[in-house]
Amino acid sequence: MKTATVYGAGVYGLCLAWRLVQRGYNVRVRSLEPPLGPGTSSIGGSRIYRFAYFESAAYVPLMQRAFGLWGELASDLGTTVHEARGVVYAGPGDGDLLRGVRGSAEQYGLRIESGHPVPEPLPDGYETVFEPDAGFLYSDRICLGLFERLQGLGVQFEFGVPAVADSGLSFFALGPGMKALCPKWNLTVTMQTIAWLEGVSATLPVFGFDGGQGSFLYGIPAHADCTLVKVGEHLPGPVAGLGLADPFAQLPGIASNVARFLGPEARVVQKAACRYTNTVDGDFIIDWVRANALGISACSGHGFKFAPAIADLAIEFAESGVRPELLLAFSGDRST
Ligand SMILES: Cc1cc2nc3c(=O)[nH]c(=O)nc-3n(C[C@H](O)[C@H](O)[C@H](O)COP(=O)(O)OP(=O)(O)OC[C@H]3O[C@@H](n4cnc5c(N)ncnc54)[C@H](O)[C@@H]3O)c2cc1C
Repeated sequence: MKTATVYGAGVYGLCLAWRLVQRGYNVRVRSLEPPLGPGTSSIGGSRIYRFAYFESAAYVPLMQRAFGLWGELASDLGTTVHEARGVVYAGPGDGDLLRGVRGSAEQYGLRIESGHPVPEPLPDGYETVFEPDAGFLYSDRICLGLFERLQGLGVQFEFGVPAVADSGLSFFALGPGMKALCPKWNLTVTMQTIAWLEGVSATLPVFGFDGGQGSFLYGIPAHADCTLVKVGEHLPGPVAGLGLADPFAQLPGIASNVARFLGPEARVVQKAACRYTNTVDGDFIIDWVRANALGISACSGHGFKFAPAIADLAIEFAESGVRPELLLAFSGDRST
């Protein structure tokens, strides 16, 4: 029987293990922390998925492939793992956010609608675009569901184990831990503030809001059947581990910006800090760490939605030695 070791038990390690088992591998997962451990990047209850990718249209086919696999996972787990509540994007009509959304939608024939109503008046010059097929993933349910399913399928989990050199086929999906494992990839790890608000309409779609100067503020239902909204800012926060970094430094800015969008009733009731791993250009890195060991840094704050598709493609890459077309942009060579 073919065997493989997966290092890391975040969404990537779990999806890799799931897809490897489906290809007939005997799999073990070794990790410092268990799924949803406090130091991992997969925590927080919910994650946005969107097809009309403003960052680059090149991500659209990857998301389409991932969406099919999220459906397969839902059948395998016997539960829903997403909610297609739609995403409202708000920003200046000629800004990067709306131009990117419209460009991706046009290139791939995705459904979008202009002029979606929002609860509060928007800043001058702002317009909205609604993507009805986007929404959010139940990220905690996915990670815990996969963990339980994999144990049922005979996958061995070992926790408290640091990643080490291994002679067999291995996959390294260490989230922020990839920085130390692979210094040549030139990753930075930053602390991101997330906050949960109450007093917000329970039927509010997911929203993404252009906060200016490259900032993308977002709000997502906290998890399945929940009236709290989780908000954050997709802009690298303070660098982690320097001692000076205040993990909640972004909170006042986020709160005042989302109040413009959600209204004065919205109140912060809980907050947390979570680590982002950033590449030099915001795109992922999937490349060899050494012979027979593939590293996956699907990071920069937008990786969750792609996890099963990247897991599949990474396994194909590791088995064939040939980089699949959808991973062509993700070589580690561009990291200086
Ligand atoms: C605040 C926030 C909001 C986000 N929002 C979105 C969103 O809306 N949509 C989206 O698609 N993505 C989003 N992301 C990004 C997404 O969550 C991450 O890309 C994804 O969770 C990364 O998963 P991972 O498995 O690579 O890493 P992790 O979840 O961090 O897992 C890494 C695993 O490796 C283990 N590990 C670490 N170091 C070592 C070591 N040396 N040896 C052994 N094991 C080790 C850890 O214990 C852990 O189990 C967001 C991220 C954050 C932080």
